[in-house]
Amino acid sequence: MKTAVYPGTFDPITEGHLDIVRRASKVFEELIIGIHDKPEKRLLFSIEERVTMVQETVKDLRNVRVEHFSGLTIDFIHSVKGMVMVRGLRAISDFERELAMALMNKELAPDIEMVCLMTSSRYQFLSSSAIKEIASLRGSVKGMVPDNVVLALDRKFSK
Ligand code: ADP
Repeated sequence: MKTAVYPGTFDPITEGHLDIVRRASKVFEELIIGIHDKPEKRLLFSIEERVTMVQETVKDLRNVRVEHFSGLTIDFIHSVKGMVMVRGLRAISDFERELAMALMNKELAPDIEMVCLMTSSRYQFLSSSAIKEIASLRGSVKGMVPDNVVLALDRKFSK
């Protein structure tokens, strides 16, 4: 079975991420969304909150499951017997970062292939950091993130 892993921080998951999930789930037999526990980033949501939000949004996709991991992404992919790492590309800046990561990962794990899906044009502007900034300033993010994430952001910023 061809298992692919879509790793990321998903702090929080956006419609841009979901678009990549839906499309990748049609290409691969099994897709595992791997949520990094503690990346070198300041996070708004805990790992439990991020896992729950992602699980709620992908519950209708039969060949998609959600796991969390710490440490190297390639080690996680090996642990679930994955063959492919899926990433999304929005702009040249994403490309430079992803290319550097792909080349490094190829040195460390030659058996894993990286597949990048281009963003759909309507999500090109979407990033988790922009969503957090808008929500923190009490702007509306409806339509940019799933409804459960809108509620979770409301709860965080109404405190
Ligand atoms: P990371 O911290 O690993 O970059 P993110 O959760 O920010 O994790 O993103 C995970 C992946 O999803 C990355 O490959 C990123 O480029 C991609 N991605 C993020 N937003 C979008 C979007 N709007 N359209 C397509 N891909 C996206």
